[in-house]
Amino acid sequence: MQIISKPEKLFKILKILKLKSKTIGFVPTMGALHEGHLSLIRQAKKENKIVVVSIFVNPKQFGPKEDLKSYPRPLSKDLAFCRKEKVDFIFLPKAKDIYGKNFSTYIQVEGLSSVLCGKARPGHFRGVATIVTKLFNLVHPDIAYLGMKDAQQLIIIKRMVKDLNIPVKIKAMPTVREADGLAISSRNMYLNKSEKLDALVLSRALNLAKLMIKNGARDSLSIVNRMKELIKQNKSVRIEYIEILDTETLRPLNRVIGNYLIVLAVRIGTTRLIDNFWGKLSR
Ligand code: AMP
Repeated sequence: MQIISKPEKLFKILKILKLKSKTIGFVPTMGALHEGHLSLIRQAKKENKIVVVSIFVNPKQFGPKEDLKSYPRPLSKDLAFCRKEKVDFIFLPKAKDIYGKNFSTYIQVEGLSSVLCGKARPGHFRGVATIVTKLFNLVHPDIAYLGMKDAQQLIIIKRMVKDLNIPVKIKAMPTVREADGLAISSRNMYLNKSEKLDALVLSRALNLAKLMIKNGARDSLSIVNRMKELIKQNKSVRIEYIEILDTETLRPLNRVIGNYLIVLAVRIGTTRLIDNFWGKLSR
């Protein structure tokens, strides 16, 4: 496993490998690797000759009051994790090498970036789209592996790749959960024991919605209201949003139909958690 920190070096090495027709699978991460990242890495290993994992806590996607400083950075553990999975390259850049002096170009995916998490985190998706574009330009992957856990991020990146003709295939990977249903996230480590129990309400609310839909419910508002009722039973969980949307446009659906996405975001203490369910009902 080769660890590379300089963008130009990574670009050169991968360009040569690509010319030799080696397929490149890419997993962009912010580190603090867990089972969710692992599923992406393993899929990339299965489908490509070369696997590149980037570890970069991207300052441009954090708001001024967010957890950029405290975001977990267990680097040696992450490297051991990747070594074990036989990752070929780790890209571990410094912020100053990614955002040089006078950096002033950003990618803004209109509309999709300003709703849901984009409302609570202004500028977040601009930061995400910009770093992902830069990483794609440096790695030139054949396939990039992204988690469905970050639904809005995935939809935005897919839109961007299509709109800008970026030559990469985006592969969406299912959310990996703890045995109790909690979606695994690097930010779960901010939760204390009782908050972790409180957090189970997210997957429970999604399960309730799934059951309602299975039993024939189609009216989004009544499904969302039932989810809210369930969550509100737990006084320490504050709902930020719960919505049922179209998976491509993120437009709200009055009725559950076609490719739909149920998304929710809550705050528990100081931690913000998101979860979702991707469903399909024939029209
Ligand atoms: P992050 O390090 O949080 O930026 O995540 C890097 C990638 O891993 C993103 O594409 C995430 O959507 C994905 N990811 C994070 N958590 C999970 C999970 N529990 N299951 C599957 N993928 C995940």
